[in-house]
Amino acid sequence: KDERLFNFSAGPCMLPVEVLQECQDHMMNWNGSGMGVMEMSHRGKEFVSIYNQTVSDLRDILQVPDSHSLFFMQGGATTQFASVPLNLLKEPSNAADYAVTGSWGDKAFKECQKYGKANKVCDTKSSNYTFIPPVSEWKVNPEASYLHYCANETIYGVEFKSTPDVGLPLVSDMSSNFCSKPIEVSKHTLIYAGIQKNLGPAGAAVVIADKACLGNAKSICPTLLDYKTMSDSESMYNTPPCWSIYVVGLMAKYLKEKGGLAFWKEWSEKKAKILYDAIDGSDGYFICPTAKDCRSNMNIPFRVGRGDEALEKKFLEEGKKHKLVTLSGHRTVGGCRASLYNGMPIEGVETLVSFMREFQEANP
Ligand code: PMP
Repeated sequence: KDERLFNFSAGPCMLPVEVLQECQDHMMNWNGSGMGVMEMSHRGKEFVSIYNQTVSDLRDILQVPDSHSLFFMQGGATTQFASVPLNLLKEPSNAADYAVTGSWGDKAFKECQKYGKANKVCDTKSSNYTFIPPVSEWKVNPEASYLHYCANETIYGVEFKSTPDVGLPLVSDMSSNFCSKPIEVSKHTLIYAGIQKNLGPAGAAVVIADKACLGNAKSICPTLLDYKTMSDSESMYNTPPCWSIYVVGLMAKYLKEKGGLAFWKEWSEKKAKILYDAIDGSDGYFICPTAKDCRSNMNIPFRVGRGDEALEKKFLEEGKKHKLVTLSGHRTVGGCRASLYNGMPIEGVETLVSFMREFQEANP
């Protein structure tokens, strides 16, 4: 445990030691079944019980109402960029609205263009995706089948602080802030989240769909991307990512035992505040470009040494001596970025902040 680093990766990322330990303890023999979870038939009673408990705990912590189905799909969140239009675009308009507040939202928008008419209600690219324009300024198409927004843009650190209500069915990519706070499920037609940030290994996505939207997929929609197929088969139309679902189950139990999503919201806010305060109190030495009203509690991009790239490089190198790793910004934007998902202990943030102070003093 002592050899573990403070890994600030944007995902995959740190998971709580308690959860990893439980995986390790049950690796060879789950609950006295004589086999590990990786070796079980997905239709056997052992795995079915793991699946049911996982869904039940997730529904419980997220307070998913009976109107909505919760299931797993493969292909991470990116596959959902296609699933969404393939399932939810409706004739005659075959149109959808997209709020583009970062590059993930933009990717989702572009994928929709393959299947229908995608309209951007806003696009903050020219301001380097540093803010979210007020909903009142969005150019909404009343004929659109849905409005898609990315609840937390992982690269730029821009997070919606409330559900954007525009009078259209709402679809949200919650990949990078899922299970970091309570969400308003019933206001959404569809929510999806890649699980490799707050919930487990990469490769799968949790989908929460209003049952009323199921069964409308286009005829060209691949069977595995059809929400009705996946909901009706309880994620098991084909062999599901059993191990990933198992780890999500352990995480859901862990998140619940610690106090549910209200606790994690407070915890995330506390961790993020420590870092934002250090950045803002550095007299411009560290800079976070994001507008204050939409700063993410999960991903915090910042520049070092007033944006001096040589100092940034030095900062990243020296940080490693303090166990602070994977702090470089996304390859498309540079700079630094600290991701503070549920698995990042508060000691990680405190160590980072004290290293930042030390570094500033030594390299004014
Ligand atoms: N949406 C968001 C907000 C993300 O952060 C990511 C991954 N970083 C994706 C979508 C894509 O996820 P995946 O790699 O699982 O396809």
